[in-house]
Amino acid sequence: MKLENLEKQLDGKLFYDHTMRTLYATDASAYKEMPLAVAIPKTAADIQKIIAFARENNSSVIPRAAGTSLAGQVVGNGIVVDISQELTKILSVDPIEKSAWVEPGVIRDELNLHLKSYKLFFGPETSTSNRCMIGGMVGNNACGARSVIYGSTREHLLEIKGFLADGNEVTFGARNTGYALDLLADSQPFGSEGTLFFSTAIKLNLVDALKPFAALVCVHFNSINESLKANLLALKFNPDSVELIDHYILECTKENIEQSKNRFFVQGDPQAILAVEFLRDTQEEILQIASAMEELMRSENLGYHFPIVFGEDTNKVWNLRKAGLGLLSNIPGDAKAVAVIEDTAVDVNDLPDFIEEFNAILKERNLNCVHYAHAATGELHLRPIIDLKTKEGAGLFRTIATDIAHLVKKYKGSLSGEHGDGRLRGEFIPLMLGEEIYQFLPYRQIR
Ligand SMILES: Cc1cc2nc3c(=O)[nH]c(=O)nc-3n(C[C@H](O)[C@H](O)[C@H](O)COP(=O)(O)OP(=O)(O)OC[C@H]3O[C@@H](n4cnc5c(N)ncnc54)[C@H](O)[C@@H]3O)c2cc1C
Repeated sequence: MKLENLEKQLDGKLFYDHTMRTLYATDASAYKEMPLAVAIPKTAADIQKIIAFARENNSSVIPRAAGTSLAGQVVGNGIVVDISQELTKILSVDPIEKSAWVEPGVIRDELNLHLKSYKLFFGPETSTSNRCMIGGMVGNNACGARSVIYGSTREHLLEIKGFLADGNEVTFGARNTGYALDLLADSQPFGSEGTLFFSTAIKLNLVDALKPFAALVCVHFNSINESLKANLLALKFNPDSVELIDHYILECTKENIEQSKNRFFVQGDPQAILAVEFLRDTQEEILQIASAMEELMRSENLGYHFPIVFGEDTNKVWNLRKAGLGLLSNIPGDAKAVAVIEDTAVDVNDLPDFIEEFNAILKERNLNCVHYAHAATGELHLRPIIDLKTKEGAGLFRTIATDIAHLVKKYKGSLSGEHGDGRLRGEFIPLMLGEEIYQFLPYRQIR
Protein backbone atom coordinates (compact mmCIF):
# COMPACT_ATOMS: atom_id res chain seq x y z
CA MET A 1 0.00 0.00 0.00
CA LYS A 2 1.63 3.24 -1.12
CA LEU A 3 0.14 6.16 0.79
CA GLU A 4 2.62 8.41 -1.04
CA ASN A 5 0.83 7.61 -4.30
CA LEU A 6 -2.48 8.70 -2.87
CA GLU A 7 -0.90 11.83 -1.42
CA LYS A 8 0.35 12.86 -4.88
CA GLN A 9 -3.12 12.46 -6.42
CA LEU A 10 -4.93 14.73 -3.96
CA ASP A 11 -5.56 18.48 -4.16
CA GLY A 12 -5.95 18.33 -0.41
CA LYS A 13 -3.59 16.82 2.16
CA LEU A 14 -2.73 13.37 3.43
CA PHE A 15 -0.91 12.78 6.72
CA TYR A 16 0.53 9.50 7.93
CA ASP A 17 2.96 10.70 10.56
CA HIS A 18 2.62 9.58 14.15
CA THR A 19 1.53 12.96 15.53
CA MET A 20 -1.38 13.50 13.15
CA ARG A 21 -2.52 9.89 13.47
CA THR A 22 -2.46 10.25 17.26
CA LEU A 23 -4.49 13.46 17.07
CA TYR A 24 -7.18 11.64 15.11
CA ALA A 25 -7.11 8.44 17.20
CA THR A 26 -9.86 9.75 19.48
CA ASP A 27 -13.22 11.47 19.29
CA ALA A 28 -15.67 12.47 22.03
CA SER A 29 -16.28 8.80 22.92
CA ALA A 30 -14.43 6.42 25.25
CA TYR A 31 -12.62 4.79 22.27
CA LYS A 32 -9.11 5.20 20.90
CA GLU A 33 -7.61 3.60 17.79
CA MET A 34 -4.72 4.68 15.58
CA PRO A 35 -5.86 5.41 12.00
CA LEU A 36 -3.77 4.35 9.01
CA ALA A 37 -3.75 7.96 7.76
CA VAL A 38 -5.61 11.25 7.96
CA ALA A 39 -6.90 12.95 4.80
CA ILE A 40 -8.05 16.56 4.48
CA PRO A 41 -9.83 16.53 1.10
CA LYS A 42 -10.22 19.78 -0.81
CA THR A 43 -12.72 18.58 -3.39
CA ALA A 44 -15.32 15.91 -3.99
CA ALA A 45 -12.88 14.37 -6.49
CA ASP A 46 -10.37 13.93 -3.64
CA ILE A 47 -12.95 11.95 -1.71
CA GLN A 48 -13.59 9.70 -4.70
CA LYS A 49 -9.85 9.02 -4.99
CA ILE A 50 -9.55 8.21 -1.29
CA ILE A 51 -12.46 5.74 -1.50
CA ALA A 52 -10.91 4.07 -4.56
CA PHE A 53 -7.53 3.79 -2.79
CA ALA A 54 -9.14 2.28 0.33
CA ARG A 55 -11.06 -0.23 -1.78
CA GLU A 56 -7.99 -1.29 -3.77
CA ASN A 57 -5.92 -1.66 -0.60
CA ASN A 58 -8.57 -3.40 1.47
CA SER A 59 -8.62 -0.56 3.95
CA SER A 60 -11.55 1.56 5.13
CA VAL A 61 -12.72 5.17 5.00
CA ILE A 62 -14.00 6.98 8.09
CA PRO A 63 -15.76 10.26 7.26
CA ARG A 64 -15.20 12.76 10.08
CA ALA A 65 -16.84 16.15 10.63
CA ALA A 66 -16.36 17.79 14.07
CA GLY A 67 -15.72 14.46 15.82
CA THR A 68 -18.21 15.10 18.63
CA SER A 69 -19.82 11.67 18.30
CA LEU A 70 -20.10 9.82 21.58
CA ALA A 71 -20.21 6.23 20.34
CA GLY A 72 -16.84 5.88 18.60
CA GLN A 73 -18.15 6.53 15.07
CA VAL A 74 -15.11 8.45 13.85
CA VAL A 75 -12.39 6.33 15.40
CA GLY A 76 -10.95 3.40 13.46
CA ASN A 77 -7.90 1.87 11.81
CA GLY A 78 -8.66 3.06 8.26
CA ILE A 79 -8.23 6.47 6.63
CA VAL A 80 -9.93 9.21 8.65
CA VAL A 81 -11.26 11.77 6.16
CA ASP A 82 -11.71 15.13 7.87
CA ILE A 83 -14.20 17.32 5.98
CA SER A 84 -14.24 20.07 8.62
CA GLN A 85 -11.48 22.15 7.08
CA GLU A 86 -12.13 22.54 3.37
CA LEU A 87 -15.71 21.42 2.70
CA THR A 88 -17.28 24.26 4.66
CA LYS A 89 -19.21 26.35 2.14
CA ILE A 90 -22.87 27.36 2.23
CA LEU A 91 -23.50 26.84 -1.47
CA SER A 92 -26.91 28.46 -1.93
CA VAL A 93 -30.08 29.53 -0.13
CA ASP A 94 -33.50 29.49 -1.77
CA PRO A 95 -35.78 31.68 0.40
CA ILE A 96 -38.84 30.89 -1.73
CA GLU A 97 -38.50 27.12 -1.50
CA LYS A 98 -37.05 27.53 2.05
CA SER A 99 -34.04 25.36 1.40
CA ALA A 100 -30.25 25.53 1.37
CA TRP A 101 -27.43 23.54 -0.23
CA VAL A 102 -24.40 23.20 2.02
CA GLU A 103 -21.15 21.30 2.10
CA PRO A 104 -20.94 18.74 4.92
CA GLY A 105 -18.40 20.75 6.96
CA VAL A 106 -20.74 23.69 7.61
CA ILE A 107 -21.23 24.25 11.36
CA ARG A 108 -24.90 24.14 12.40
CA ASP A 109 -24.96 27.45 14.33
CA GLU A 110 -22.97 29.24 11.61
CA LEU A 111 -25.57 28.14 9.07
CA ASN A 112 -28.32 29.64 11.22
CA LEU A 113 -26.35 32.86 11.64
CA HIS A 114 -26.15 33.10 7.85
CA LEU A 115 -29.90 32.38 7.54
CA LYS A 116 -30.89 35.12 9.97
CA SER A 117 -31.17 37.75 7.25
CA TYR A 118 -33.58 35.46 5.37
CA LYS A 119 -35.66 35.04 8.58
CA LEU A 120 -35.13 31.31 8.13
CA PHE A 121 -33.70 28.60 10.32
CA PHE A 122 -32.40 25.01 10.24
CA GLY A 123 -34.47 23.38 13.00
CA PRO A 124 -32.63 20.33 14.39
CA GLU A 125 -30.04 21.21 17.00
CA THR A 126 -27.68 19.42 19.32
CA SER A 127 -26.00 20.56 22.52
CA THR A 128 -22.89 20.74 20.36
CA SER A 129 -24.55 23.00 17.77
CA ASN A 130 -21.78 25.61 18.01
CA ARG A 131 -19.28 23.10 16.58
CA CYS A 132 -21.01 20.06 15.12
CA MET A 133 -21.41 19.98 11.33
CA ILE A 134 -24.21 19.21 8.96
CA GLY A 135 -22.40 16.11 7.57
CA GLY A 136 -22.13 14.72 11.11
CA MET A 137 -25.72 15.63 11.94
CA VAL A 138 -26.95 13.78 8.86
CA GLY A 139 -24.63 10.85 9.65
CA ASN A 140 -26.05 10.48 13.17
CA ASN A 141 -29.56 11.71 12.33
CA ALA A 142 -28.98 14.20 15.14
CA CYS A 143 -31.60 16.14 17.02
CA GLY A 144 -31.97 17.74 20.40
CA ALA A 145 -33.91 20.00 22.68
CA ARG A 146 -36.58 21.14 20.23
CA SER A 147 -37.05 17.77 18.52
CA VAL A 148 -40.60 17.74 19.90
CA ILE A 149 -41.24 20.53 17.35
CA TYR A 150 -38.66 19.99 14.60
CA GLY A 151 -38.06 16.24 14.70
CA SER A 152 -34.62 15.03 13.69
CA THR A 153 -32.22 15.80 10.86
CA ARG A 154 -33.63 13.21 8.49
CA GLU A 155 -36.96 15.06 8.43
CA HIS A 156 -35.15 18.12 7.02
CA LEU A 157 -32.96 16.37 4.49
CA LEU A 158 -34.19 17.10 0.97
CA GLU A 159 -31.36 15.84 -1.20
CA ILE A 160 -27.83 14.59 -0.73
CA LYS A 161 -24.92 14.10 -3.11
CA GLY A 162 -21.89 11.94 -2.56
CA PHE A 163 -20.15 8.65 -3.17
CA LEU A 164 -21.03 5.04 -2.48
CA ALA A 165 -18.41 2.52 -1.38
CA ASP A 166 -17.91 1.38 -4.99
CA GLY A 167 -16.94 4.94 -5.93
CA ASN A 168 -20.15 5.73 -7.80
CA GLU A 169 -21.32 9.32 -7.43
CA VAL A 170 -25.02 9.46 -6.58
CA THR A 171 -27.71 11.95 -5.58
CA PHE A 172 -30.55 10.80 -3.37
CA GLY A 173 -33.88 12.59 -3.21
CA ALA A 174 -36.06 13.37 -0.22
CA ARG A 175 -35.97 10.20 1.81
CA ASN A 176 -34.40 9.32 5.10
CA THR A 177 -30.96 8.93 6.53
CA GLY A 178 -29.54 6.01 8.38
CA TYR A 179 -30.66 2.43 8.09
CA ALA A 180 -33.97 3.69 9.58
CA LEU A 181 -35.75 0.38 9.34
CA ASP A 182 -38.97 2.04 10.45
CA LEU A 183 -38.96 3.77 7.07
CA LEU A 184 -37.27 1.01 5.10
CA ALA A 185 -40.53 -0.22 3.60
CA ASP A 186 -40.88 2.84 1.38
CA SER A 187 -37.39 4.25 1.13
CA GLN A 188 -33.91 3.76 -0.21
CA PRO A 189 -31.64 3.60 2.83
CA PHE A 190 -28.34 5.42 2.66
CA GLY A 191 -25.85 7.27 4.83
CA SER A 192 -25.81 5.83 8.33
CA GLU A 193 -22.89 6.97 10.41
CA GLY A 194 -20.59 7.06 7.44
CA THR A 195 -20.86 3.34 6.73
CA LEU A 196 -22.77 3.48 3.45
CA PHE A 197 -22.26 6.80 1.77
CA PHE A 198 -19.84 9.77 1.82
CA SER A 199 -21.74 13.03 1.42
CA THR A 200 -20.25 16.00 -0.42
CA ALA A 201 -23.29 18.33 -0.68
CA ILE A 202 -26.51 18.39 1.30
CA LYS A 203 -29.82 20.13 0.58
CA LEU A 204 -31.69 21.05 3.75
CA ASN A 205 -35.24 22.08 4.48
CA LEU A 206 -35.47 25.39 6.37
CA VAL A 207 -38.19 26.62 8.70
CA ASP A 208 -39.42 30.10 9.64
CA ALA A 209 -37.44 31.96 12.29
CA LEU A 210 -38.45 31.38 15.90
CA LYS A 211 -41.38 33.28 17.48
CA PRO A 212 -40.33 36.54 19.13
CA PHE A 213 -41.09 35.82 22.81
CA ALA A 214 -39.18 33.09 24.62
CA ALA A 215 -39.55 31.86 28.17
CA LEU A 216 -38.41 28.93 30.27
CA VAL A 217 -40.48 27.79 33.23
CA CYS A 218 -37.81 26.17 35.43
CA VAL A 219 -39.87 23.82 37.60
CA HIS A 220 -38.08 22.48 40.70
CA PHE A 221 -38.66 18.90 41.96
CA ASN A 222 -37.69 16.72 44.90
CA SER A 223 -37.02 13.67 42.74
CA ILE A 224 -36.30 12.63 39.15
CA ASN A 225 -39.38 10.45 39.14
CA GLU A 226 -41.57 13.40 40.14
CA SER A 227 -40.07 15.49 37.32
CA LEU A 228 -40.79 12.79 34.71
CA LYS A 229 -44.43 12.55 35.77
CA ALA A 230 -44.70 16.36 35.56
CA ASN A 231 -43.11 16.20 32.10
CA LEU A 232 -46.26 14.47 30.85
CA LEU A 233 -48.36 17.34 32.21
CA ALA A 234 -46.05 19.94 30.65
CA LEU A 235 -46.55 18.31 27.24
CA LYS A 236 -50.27 19.07 27.40
CA PHE A 237 -49.34 22.77 26.94
CA ASN A 238 -47.42 22.27 23.65
CA PRO A 239 -44.00 23.42 24.87
CA ASP A 240 -41.19 23.94 22.36
CA SER A 241 -38.90 21.83 24.51
CA VAL A 242 -38.68 20.24 27.95
CA GLU A 243 -35.15 19.71 29.24
CA LEU A 244 -34.17 17.85 32.40
CA ILE A 245 -31.25 19.03 34.53
CA ASP A 246 -30.48 16.79 37.50
CA HIS A 247 -28.80 17.50 40.85
CA TYR A 248 -25.40 16.17 39.70
CA ILE A 249 -25.22 18.79 36.98
CA LEU A 250 -26.54 21.50 39.28
CA GLU A 251 -23.95 20.53 41.90
CA CYS A 252 -21.09 20.83 39.36
CA THR A 253 -22.22 24.35 38.41
CA LYS A 254 -21.83 25.60 41.99
CA GLU A 255 -18.03 25.71 41.94
CA ASN A 256 -17.66 26.86 38.34
CA ILE A 257 -17.06 30.61 38.06
CA GLU A 258 -18.98 31.09 34.81
CA GLN A 259 -21.84 28.68 35.49
CA SER A 260 -22.36 29.81 39.08
CA LYS A 261 -23.62 33.10 37.56
CA ASN A 262 -26.16 31.15 35.51
CA ARG A 263 -27.72 29.55 38.61
CA PHE A 264 -29.79 32.67 39.36
CA PHE A 265 -33.06 30.74 38.87
CA VAL A 266 -32.18 27.84 41.18
CA GLN A 267 -33.70 27.82 44.65
CA GLY A 268 -32.34 25.44 47.28
CA ASP A 269 -31.01 22.04 46.21
CA PRO A 270 -33.60 20.51 43.84
CA GLN A 271 -33.07 16.89 42.81
CA ALA A 272 -34.25 17.84 39.32
CA ILE A 273 -35.31 20.86 37.29
CA LEU A 274 -37.45 20.73 34.17
CA ALA A 275 -36.85 23.71 31.91
CA VAL A 276 -40.12 23.95 29.96
CA GLU A 277 -39.69 26.23 26.97
CA PHE A 278 -42.47 28.29 25.36
CA LEU A 279 -41.94 30.40 22.23
CA ARG A 280 -44.98 32.50 21.49
CA ASP A 281 -46.15 35.75 19.83
CA THR A 282 -46.70 37.64 23.10
CA GLN A 283 -45.43 37.55 26.66
CA GLU A 284 -49.05 37.55 27.97
CA GLU A 285 -49.71 34.31 26.11
CA ILE A 286 -46.73 32.70 27.84
CA LEU A 287 -47.77 33.96 31.28
CA GLN A 288 -51.22 32.44 30.85
CA ILE A 289 -49.82 29.07 29.78
CA ALA A 290 -47.23 29.04 32.58
CA SER A 291 -49.85 29.82 35.19
CA ALA A 292 -52.20 27.06 33.93
CA MET A 293 -49.30 24.59 33.86
CA GLU A 294 -48.26 25.46 37.42
CA GLU A 295 -51.84 25.04 38.62
CA LEU A 296 -52.11 21.59 37.02
CA MET A 297 -48.75 20.40 38.39
CA ARG A 298 -49.50 21.69 41.89
CA SER A 299 -52.88 19.94 41.82
CA GLU A 300 -50.96 16.68 41.35
CA ASN A 301 -48.37 17.58 43.99
CA LEU A 302 -45.63 17.83 41.39
CA GLY A 303 -43.04 20.62 41.67
CA TYR A 304 -42.41 23.13 44.44
CA HIS A 305 -41.01 26.23 42.71
CA PHE A 306 -41.97 27.61 39.29
CA PRO A 307 -39.73 30.56 38.32
CA ILE A 308 -40.19 31.93 34.78
CA VAL A 309 -37.12 33.15 32.92
CA PHE A 310 -37.71 35.49 29.95
CA GLY A 311 -35.85 36.77 26.90
CA GLU A 312 -32.06 37.05 26.99
CA ASP A 313 -31.92 35.41 30.42
CA THR A 314 -33.11 32.16 28.86
CA ASN A 315 -29.67 31.96 27.19
CA LYS A 316 -28.10 31.69 30.65
CA VAL A 317 -30.29 28.71 31.50
CA TRP A 318 -29.49 27.06 28.14
CA ASN A 319 -25.84 27.78 28.74
CA LEU A 320 -25.96 26.03 32.10
CA ARG A 321 -27.88 23.08 30.66
CA LYS A 322 -25.45 22.67 27.74
CA ALA A 323 -22.31 23.22 29.82
CA GLY A 324 -23.44 20.68 32.38
CA LEU A 325 -22.00 17.66 30.64
CA GLY A 326 -18.55 19.20 30.31
CA LEU A 327 -18.59 20.11 33.99
CA LEU A 328 -19.34 16.52 34.93
CA SER A 329 -15.76 15.67 34.04
CA ASN A 330 -14.84 17.73 37.12
CA ILE A 331 -16.49 15.24 39.49
CA PRO A 332 -13.63 14.60 41.95
CA GLY A 333 -11.84 11.24 41.74
CA ASP A 334 -11.41 8.68 38.95
CA ALA A 335 -15.07 7.68 38.75
CA LYS A 336 -16.66 9.73 35.96
CA ALA A 337 -20.06 10.01 34.29
CA VAL A 338 -19.37 7.77 31.28
CA ALA A 339 -21.05 7.60 27.87
CA VAL A 340 -22.16 4.00 27.57
CA ILE A 341 -25.98 4.03 27.68
CA GLU A 342 -26.25 7.78 27.24
CA ASP A 343 -28.72 7.83 24.38
CA THR A 344 -31.74 5.74 25.35
CA ALA A 345 -35.18 6.83 24.14
CA VAL A 346 -38.57 5.34 25.01
CA ASP A 347 -42.15 6.44 24.48
CA VAL A 348 -42.43 9.53 26.67
CA ASN A 349 -45.42 8.05 28.51
CA ASP A 350 -43.23 5.11 29.58
CA LEU A 351 -40.37 7.33 30.74
CA PRO A 352 -41.24 7.41 34.49
CA ASP A 353 -41.53 3.58 34.68
CA PHE A 354 -38.51 3.02 32.48
CA ILE A 355 -36.32 5.27 34.63
CA GLU A 356 -37.57 3.65 37.82
CA GLU A 357 -36.55 0.19 36.53
CA PHE A 358 -33.33 1.63 35.14
CA ASN A 359 -32.36 3.04 38.52
CA ALA A 360 -33.23 -0.24 40.25
CA ILE A 361 -30.76 -2.03 37.93
CA LEU A 362 -28.07 0.51 38.71
CA LYS A 363 -28.76 0.33 42.44
CA GLU A 364 -28.17 -3.45 42.37
CA ARG A 365 -24.69 -2.66 41.11
CA ASN A 366 -24.13 0.21 43.55
CA LEU A 367 -23.98 2.74 40.74
CA ASN A 368 -25.21 6.32 40.72
CA CYS A 369 -26.22 7.99 37.49
CA VAL A 370 -26.56 11.43 35.94
CA HIS A 371 -29.92 12.06 34.19
CA TYR A 372 -30.40 14.99 31.82
CA ALA A 373 -31.62 16.33 28.47
CA HIS A 374 -34.62 15.85 26.26
CA ALA A 375 -37.48 14.76 28.52
CA ALA A 376 -40.09 16.01 26.03
CA THR A 377 -39.36 13.21 23.58
CA GLY A 378 -38.54 10.45 26.07
CA GLU A 379 -34.85 10.82 25.25
CA LEU A 380 -32.74 11.07 28.40
CA HIS A 381 -28.98 11.10 28.50
CA LEU A 382 -28.07 8.68 31.28
CA ARG A 383 -24.50 8.53 32.47
CA PRO A 384 -23.58 6.07 35.20
CA ILE A 385 -20.62 7.11 37.31
CA ILE A 386 -17.95 4.46 36.78
CA ASP A 387 -14.19 4.30 37.37
CA LEU A 388 -12.96 2.95 34.03
CA LYS A 389 -9.40 2.81 35.33
CA THR A 390 -10.24 -0.28 37.40
CA LYS A 391 -10.83 -3.79 36.05
CA GLU A 392 -14.15 -3.90 37.85
CA GLY A 393 -15.19 -0.58 36.26
CA ALA A 394 -14.26 -1.75 32.76
CA GLY A 395 -16.33 -4.90 33.35
CA LEU A 396 -19.28 -2.85 34.58
CA PHE A 397 -19.14 -0.74 31.39
CA ARG A 398 -20.16 -3.75 29.31
CA THR A 399 -22.47 -5.35 31.88
CA ILE A 400 -24.49 -2.15 32.18
CA ALA A 401 -24.57 -1.72 28.40
CA THR A 402 -26.04 -5.23 28.07
CA ASP A 403 -28.54 -4.94 30.94
CA ILE A 404 -29.86 -1.63 29.69
CA ALA A 405 -30.09 -2.84 26.07
CA HIS A 406 -32.48 -5.56 27.34
CA LEU A 407 -34.45 -3.01 29.38
CA VAL A 408 -34.79 -0.65 26.40
CA LYS A 409 -35.92 -3.57 24.25
CA LYS A 410 -38.55 -4.45 26.87
CA TYR A 411 -39.91 -0.90 26.54
CA LYS A 412 -39.71 -1.06 22.71
CA GLY A 413 -37.40 1.96 22.79
CA SER A 414 -34.18 2.88 21.03
CA LEU A 415 -30.66 2.52 22.40
CA SER A 416 -29.51 5.39 20.24
CA GLY A 417 -32.14 8.08 19.98
CA GLU A 418 -29.81 10.69 18.47
CA HIS A 419 -26.11 9.93 19.02
CA GLY A 420 -25.92 6.93 16.70
CA ASP A 421 -24.83 3.34 17.42
CA GLY A 422 -21.15 3.60 16.56
CA ARG A 423 -18.91 0.84 17.83
CA LEU A 424 -20.36 1.33 21.31
CA ARG A 425 -23.81 -0.02 20.46
CA GLY A 426 -23.11 -1.85 17.20
CA GLU A 427 -23.06 -5.24 18.91
CA PHE A 428 -26.58 -4.72 20.26
CA ILE A 429 -28.22 -3.99 16.89
CA PRO A 430 -29.24 -7.67 16.30
CA LEU A 431 -30.75 -7.77 19.80
CA MET A 432 -32.64 -4.51 19.31
CA LEU A 433 -33.94 -5.30 15.82
CA GLY A 434 -34.15 -9.08 15.99
CA GLU A 435 -32.01 -11.39 13.84
CA GLU A 436 -34.57 -11.56 11.03
CA ILE A 437 -34.83 -7.80 10.50
CA TYR A 438 -31.09 -7.43 11.06
CA GLN A 439 -30.56 -9.43 7.85
CA PHE A 440 -32.21 -6.58 5.91
CA LEU A 441 -29.45 -4.15 6.80
CA PRO A 442 -27.51 -3.27 3.67
CA TYR A 443 -24.16 -5.02 3.68
CA ARG A 444 -22.27 -2.82 1.23
CA GLN A 445 -20.28 -0.64 3.58
CA ILE A 446 -17.55 1.95 3.17
CA ARG A 447 -15.89 0.64 6.31
C1 LIG B 1 -21.39 17.24 24.99
C2 LIG B 1 -22.12 16.57 23.86
C3 LIG B 1 -23.48 16.77 23.71
C4 LIG B 1 -24.16 16.20 22.65
N1 LIG B 1 -25.49 16.46 22.50
C5 LIG B 1 -26.15 15.95 21.44
C6 LIG B 1 -27.53 16.26 21.22
O1 LIG B 1 -28.15 17.04 21.96
N2 LIG B 1 -28.13 15.71 20.14
C7 LIG B 1 -27.47 14.89 19.27
O2 LIG B 1 -28.06 14.43 18.30
N3 LIG B 1 -26.17 14.60 19.45
C8 LIG B 1 -25.49 15.11 20.49
N4 LIG B 1 -24.17 14.81 20.65
C9 LIG B 1 -23.49 13.95 19.66
C10 LIG B 1 -22.93 14.74 18.44
O3 LIG B 1 -22.50 16.03 18.85
C11 LIG B 1 -23.95 14.92 17.32
O4 LIG B 1 -24.53 13.69 16.92
C12 LIG B 1 -23.40 15.68 16.10
O5 LIG B 1 -24.41 15.87 15.15
C13 LIG B 1 -22.22 15.02 15.45
O6 LIG B 1 -21.70 15.95 14.52
P1 LIG B 1 -20.15 16.03 14.19
O7 LIG B 1 -19.97 17.13 13.21
O8 LIG B 1 -19.33 16.08 15.40
O9 LIG B 1 -19.96 14.63 13.44
P2 LIG B 1 -18.88 13.49 13.63
O10 LIG B 1 -18.87 13.02 15.02
O11 LIG B 1 -17.60 13.89 13.04
O12 LIG B 1 -19.54 12.38 12.69
C14 LIG B 1 -20.82 11.84 12.98
C15 LIG B 1 -21.11 10.69 12.03
O13 LIG B 1 -21.33 11.21 10.72
C16 LIG B 1 -20.45 10.61 9.78
N5 LIG B 1 -20.10 11.63 8.81
C17 LIG B 1 -19.53 12.85 9.03
N6 LIG B 1 -19.38 13.51 7.86
C18 LIG B 1 -19.85 12.69 6.90
C19 LIG B 1 -19.94 12.79 5.49
N7 LIG B 1 -19.52 13.85 4.82
N8 LIG B 1 -20.48 11.73 4.81
C20 LIG B 1 -20.91 10.63 5.46
N9 LIG B 1 -20.84 10.48 6.80
C21 LIG B 1 -20.32 11.50 7.49
C22 LIG B 1 -19.26 10.14 10.62
O14 LIG B 1 -18.57 9.07 9.99
C23 LIG B 1 -19.95 9.71 11.90
O15 LIG B 1 -20.44 8.40 11.76
C24 LIG B 1 -23.46 15.38 21.72
C25 LIG B 1 -22.08 15.17 21.87
C26 LIG B 1 -21.42 15.75 22.93
C27 LIG B 1 -19.94 15.54 23.05
